[in-house]
Amino acid sequence: MNIALIAHDKKKDDIINFSVAYEDTLKKHNLFATGTTGLRIKENTNLDITRFNSGPLGGDQQIGAMIAINNMDIVIFLRNPLTAQPHEPDVLALLRLCDVHNIPLATNMGSAEVLIKGMERGDLSWREIKKQPNH
Ligand code: PGA
Repeated sequence: MNIALIAHDKKKDDIINFSVAYEDTLKKHNLFATGTTGLRIKENTNLDITRFNSGPLGGDQQIGAMIAINNMDIVIFLRNPLTAQPHEPDVLALLRLCDVHNIPLATNMGSAEVLIKGMERGDLSWREIKKQPNH
């Protein structure tokens, strides 16, 4: 599975705690992150992560581009719901693309836990089938 991990600044500690708690599961997958989120996770775990630009500099759009070509299976995006973001349009575009392509998306810790536990159980195996090349 290709998994995207993104967290707004106030949620960085949460995504690190999540990555540490589920490191054994996450290390079996291909991980992608926006710039600062990826850096913080790398500093706190042994996970190998492909880092894109920082979110405000286009990182959300880069992850969106992977979704658009059916190359992302899960998005965990811990948003800060209490602060406006300068790149709000990019954030909305990413969430919209998840909905367009039916990509499992968690925007808070509660749903992130459910998603990863479901993935551990194999509940997301339908993504493997869907990932076959489209003709
Ligand atoms: P960051 O970007 O990981 O570079 O902080 C996340 C975001 O704000 O979308």
